[in-house]
Amino acid sequence: MKTDDIMRYQQQNPAVIPENMDTRQSIYGLTREGLEEWFAQHGERPFRAHQVWDWLYRQRVQSFQEMTNLSEKARELLDEHFQFNPLEVVKFQKAEDGTVKYLFRMNDHLLIETVLMYHEYGLSVCVTTQVGCNIGCTFCASGLIRKQRDLTAGEIVAQIMQIQHYLDEQDKNERVSHCVLMGIGEPFDNYDNILDFIRIINSDHGLAIGARHITVSTSGLAPKIREFADEDIQVNLAVSLHAPNNDVRTSMMRINAKYPIEELMDAIKYYMETTNRRVTFEYIMIEGVNDQPEHAQQLSDLLASKRRLSYVNLIPYNPVAGTNYQRSPAENIQKFHQILRDNKITATARREHGTEIDAACGQLRSNEMKRQRHKRTIRPRSNV
Ligand code: SAH
Ligand code: SF4
Repeated sequence: MKTDDIMRYQQQNPAVIPENMDTRQSIYGLTREGLEEWFAQHGERPFRAHQVWDWLYRQRVQSFQEMTNLSEKARELLDEHFQFNPLEVVKFQKAEDGTVKYLFRMNDHLLIETVLMYHEYGLSVCVTTQVGCNIGCTFCASGLIRKQRDLTAGEIVAQIMQIQHYLDEQDKNERVSHCVLMGIGEPFDNYDNILDFIRIINSDHGLAIGARHITVSTSGLAPKIREFADEDIQVNLAVSLHAPNNDVRTSMMRINAKYPIEELMDAIKYYMETTNRRVTFEYIMIEGVNDQPEHAQQLSDLLASKRRLSYVNLIPYNPVAGTNYQRSPAENIQKFHQILRDNKITATARREHGTEIDAACGQLRSNEMKRQRHKRTIRPRSNV
């Protein structure tokens, strides 16, 4: 079963919300300042937040009861208002190259996935930010169903924590050093939650994942790119460009009709001027659609004035059932790459990770959905 099948499955067979669903917020969703404020409002000293964060992100305990320097009263108060970990492991897969893929069930029984990849430079986790996606790119399995809901900041942080707990159990002293917001969903369509998420994992008192080690990928919501430029965080920005002109891009990405390339590039110019930071342009190579020499030349022209801060990432397309798109042959990718180089555009052709277990979003979820099919009932609420 391919990714688009899962997506349709989740649409047609909504998750069963358990009657006794835990509705408490996850403790992982609070920034340190947020927790300080919460303690103050509940008659405790804000300093408690420092202690709790130490237990959460340094000691990495998995229950409030283990926070032994907190009073019994404070622990009970926390337990009354917060749950610890909102994700239940449904499936775990490990590939030979070390790539690990988790399938998690959230409190309302919707399924999400998270991938851990080993790179020369460190351990990177790819997190999911939404269930489904409303952007509707024609090549992407996530876009084949409407968004069912945004993930909370706590649910996104918990993905990293689950992986970190797994690493802790291996006892190899490994830590998640990098994070990419490239799983299912459009991060800038869940803006406030991803911002909290970034602040939490980036904090020196939290997991201390360096801002330069965090990458947000967007399909190109131009106004949000401008807003992001003005935030006080220094993370990397990747833009899923995928085509060098409006005709091709709109055929692949509906969002381009709303924010055409000119508007997108203006927003990126603003981002570059404001932050002086490099932007990665993601470009999936699809045979006969966007991989021809003229596309490479158009892309070079488009980025010519932004050369200093542009970086192009050529990615082999991972075919999705139900679309007619095919992966570009290696020679098309090489030719394309060469044209960019001739135009002095910095580019790499990205290696794939976890193909053995299919690290592309959605695949793991699909098989589990199949098994759950017989259990389905109507999902009583919609968050769309
Ligand atoms: N919504 C955001 C981030 C999630 S998608 C975005 O679109 O940028 C992460 C990346 O995977 C994007 O660059 C997206 O275009 C790419 N992608 C989606 N489907 C793909 C597929 N089938 N093969 C290869 N890359 C894909
Ligand atoms: Fe959404 Fe990104 Fe997929 Fe487009 S590529 S449908 S924006 S997840």
